[in-house]
This record gives sequence, structure tokens and C-alpha cells, in this order.
Amino acid sequence: PTVVNRIAAGEVIQRPSNAIKELMENSLDAGAGSIQISVKSGGLKLLQIQDDGCGINKEDLEIVCERFTTSKLSKFEDLEEIGTYGFRGEALASISHVAHLRIITKTADSVCAYQAEYIDGRLKVIPGVTNPKPCAGNKGTIITAEDLFYNMDIRRRALKAPSEEHNRIVDVVTRYAVHNSKVGFSVKKAGEGNVDMRTPPKSTAVDNIRVLYGGQIARELLEVKHEDEHFKMRGHVTNVNFSTKKFTFLLFINHRLVESAAIRKAVDAVYTSYLPKGSHPFLYLSIEMNPRNVDVNVHPTKNEVHFLHEDLIISATGMADKTAGQGGSS
Ligand code: ADP
Ligand code: MG
Repeated sequence: PTVVNRIAAGEVIQRPSNAIKELMENSLDAGAGSIQISVKSGGLKLLQIQDDGCGINKEDLEIVCERFTTSKLSKFEDLEEIGTYGFRGEALASISHVAHLRIITKTADSVCAYQAEYIDGRLKVIPGVTNPKPCAGNKGTIITAEDLFYNMDIRRRALKAPSEEHNRIVDVVTRYAVHNSKVGFSVKKAGEGNVDMRTPPKSTAVDNIRVLYGGQIARELLEVKHEDEHFKMRGHVTNVNFSTKKFTFLLFINHRLVESAAIRKAVDAVYTSYLPKGSHPFLYLSIEMNPRNVDVNVHPTKNEVHFLHEDLIISATGMADKTAGQGGSS
């Protein structure tokens, strides 16, 4: 059964950036105001994420890595109306099957923090050592995954160079930082002083776009705003007078980072029709709609999402283009 679990885990966590996305979503679900990430060797040697969220209480610490353990689903109907990122109870379980996992956590009402180590979905049995054991720590959670895919040679060999995996991590955190601008994020290589990205807490999306994607893009941004009975849409797009070499597209549906080939294609076509060949917009789009109309239960690493009213959203995005046509930077 362990091998089967490991294979399943390798499906959920295909590369370090998937693990970081899951861990970040847990920190956001925990109400974190700060999320600090350290990485070694593209995440293969070390992935560490520290937050100042609600923490995990000691009783839950014993079971958090068991599959389908989640504190986020109280009744079956909830599956239809998911308000938090997590709901499968699979992320920590999966990581514990393919890495050495350690959690240090403290809730507000606990006098001390606890440290726990896991293997294959369970608390590790370490002779002579209590696990979880009390330790010093601040409110919040530090999750450390070491030697990712140490037991899955095939998965490890399928990865790109560590520098490329590192870039993917920085990219996914950057996207979350734009969308969650009230939360401060950082990514750095473990043991190094310089950060690869950083945003301050209590910021705004546009300020974070400026910090993360550059002042030039930020100066050209136009607001995208639309609301009707089906969905609510907010975002920022570059003016048609300004283009980037590649289409940078940040799409969040109900606060989940997703991909939509349909929206991507339609929006790019509209914008590029105004621009010389080979130029594209920068677009950050956040769409909120009834969770019943979004299929989030797709494969966890294939972020391609399907939802109702796709065509309405595409035409609403086209309205942004009309604004852009008249605009000019302001
Ligand atoms: P899910 O997010 O789907 O519930 P996970 O495996 O990602 O499943 O996490 C399992 C549980 O562990 C969560 O439901 C939550 O209770 C707890 N947890 C995980 N990470 C954190 C964190 N950073 N802060 C507080 N609780 C956490
Ligand atoms: Mg989760």
C-alpha cells in the first residue's frame, strides 16, 4: 500500500512548485499575514514555509498527514460551496509520502509550540523521542519538506534543472502575492541574505505588480471591473499602447490560481489585434462566481479549470479592451 500511496502522492505533488502552492494555500486558509519561503536546490533539498496564521493544535498535529484529514469540510454539501483553498485533505499527506516532513506550530492559546515529524502519512516513530514534542516557537506554522522525491527516482529525474524549478517557485509565489496583496510574501534561497521576491504586508495589487513585474507595466495598467448576476470580475490589464513580449496572465477564480485556455486565447486575440505581431498584454484577473458553477475538482496539478459562463466572461474582458482603446496612460 505504501508504494500505491507514494504513486498517488507523486500525482498530487509533481514538482516543488506544486508543493509550495499547496502549502501557501494552507497558510492563507490559516489567516496568515506573512508567508516567508526558503528554498534549497530548486526545492529538492529543502522547501520551507513559515506563516503567522492560526497554527495547528496538538491533537490535530497527530493526524494532519493522514489522507482526507481536513479541518475545512464540516458537511458533505460543503464540497459544492468551497470557501477555502483546501478541501481534499491531500496535500500534507502527499508531501509526507515523498519527502521528509516536519511541522513546527503554535496556536494562540497554547503555551508552547510543538514539533512533529512525519513519514508516509503518519507521525514518525523515533526511539527515545516524543513526537510531537514541545518546543519554543511563535504563533503560526513552519512546514519543512526535505529531500523531495528521495524515494521516487522517476519523478526526480523528470524535473528540470534546480534553477528552473526555483524560478517556477518564485513565479507561483509572485502570482499569489499580487492576488493576496494584504499578505506579505518572500522567497529566498536558504542561507542567503538576498530575497528573490518580496512584498510588504497590507499592500495593493497594483503596488505589488509594480514591485514584482516592474514600474513600466504598472504605469500602463487599466482597471478591469465588471459585475452581473453570474460573476464579479476585477483586475488590471496593460493599455494597448504598451505590450510585453510574452502574455503574462494571472487568473484567479474564487481565489484559486487557475489556467483557462479559453480565456487566455480570447483575451490575447483581442489585445494583439491592436498591436504589432508578437506583442501581448499583461493581465491580472480575479473572478468570483458561485462555486457550484466552477469545476475545481479537476486534477490538482492540472490547473485548467472549467466553468459556466465562460463566453460571458470573455466578452466582459473585451469591454476592458474598449477602455484600453480610448485610454492612454493616466
Ligand atoms: P486541506 O488543506 O485540504 O484541508 P491539507 O493536507 O493541505 O488539507 O492540510 C490538512 C490540514 O492541516 C488542514 O485542514 C489544516 O487544518 C491543517 N493545516 C495545514 N497547514 C496549515 C497551516 N499552515 N496553518 C494551520 N493549519 C494548517
Ligand atoms: Mg491544503
